[in-house]
Amino acid sequence: MIATTAPTAGTGAWCRKSTSSARCSCDGGRYRRRASFEARFGITALGVARPRQRTSNDRAATGPPVTATGGNTPGGAAWVTEERYAAVSRVLIRVLFLNLAVALAKIAFGYASGAISILSDGFHSLTDTAANVTGLIGVRAAGQPPDEDHPYGHRKYETVAAASVTAFLLLVMIEVLRNAFNHLTGRSAVPTITAASFAVMLATVGVNLLVISYETREAGRLGSEVLLADALQTRGDVWTSVTVIGALIGTKSGIAILDPLAALLVAGFIGHAGFQIARATTRILSDRIVIAESDIERIVNGVPGVLGCHHIRTRGSSDHVFLDLHVWLPPAMPLTEAHDLSHVVKDRLIARYPQIADAIIHIEPPPPRKF
Ligand SMILES: [Zn+2]
Ligand SMILES: [Zn+2]
Repeated sequence: MIATTAPTAGTGAWCRKSTSSARCSCDGGRYRRRASFEARFGITALGVARPRQRTSNDRAATGPPVTATGGNTPGGAAWVTEERYAAVSRVLIRVLFLNLAVALAKIAFGYASGAISILSDGFHSLTDTAANVTGLIGVRAAGQPPDEDHPYGHRKYETVAAASVTAFLLLVMIEVLRNAFNHLTGRSAVPTITAASFAVMLATVGVNLLVISYETREAGRLGSEVLLADALQTRGDVWTSVTVIGALIGTKSGIAILDPLAALLVAGFIGHAGFQIARATTRILSDRIVIAESDIERIVNGVPGVLGCHHIRTRGSSDHVFLDLHVWLPPAMPLTEAHDLSHVVKDRLIARYPQIADAIIHIEPPPPRKF
């Protein structure tokens, strides 16, 4: 049995560094060998093809073999192509400049006219720009394959960027609150609302609507969660701007307090956004569980030949997950067979959860009391 499952001479070692079995399956005789193995265990084809990443594939082909203990070296099969990363990056950069123009126009006009509702809305738009930068860093980092310095990949750079955005949002919120306080206590002059105020607001809302339709279209075309989330956020901005326009109309008709009140409301939005980013960042940095243990367990136990599993751990971000677990296999199973079965488990997990960047599977016999 061992002889039939031994790697072919042309393939050499078959469990490569920085390679998920989904990708190493195409190397030489590897696929055929496992296919027959799966057939023997009554396992059908996975049916889910994962897009391949050219660079890490090339790297994988030269990576040193790792075969010991059934553990698969982390490194990650990025589940999106490089071309897609580049396309998403391009969209984000264009949107970044549009958002920046919108933000600067409102901030400049807000300071000049003394209308702090416009000023706060400008800062709110600036936070979108910061979010674009974070998204861009995340997409760029995710496009970088793991290297010698960062064997787990570069996704944490996105988390670092998100943490800086939280600090930035806090500063922005303090600035808006300071201005609102000055207006409420009468330390600042009542703003002069002119036709230009409305023109600036309406023009920026127009740009926002343009960004929404562009991002929604591209998100659908590229299947990008990042772009979709950004489009949704911009949709929220339109409502913020509409609120500010309402406050400007009120201020113009003599209810001057509406201007600082609208600013306070926007400060609340900024604070809420900051809280959400801080919470998401904390979850990633504290290695909070990403995929429920029971969900993983169900898939692993569904693989014929597997007796059970335990010590399931997931960490990372919702779209880039590292998984490790112990899988129980029959004690008498030959190592080559056990290793192959561990790859079947890994393939099934990644097919069900494409966000799994890598799964490290420790194979062991079940505890005696259980079987
Ligand atoms: Zn392997
Ligand atoms: Zn164990």
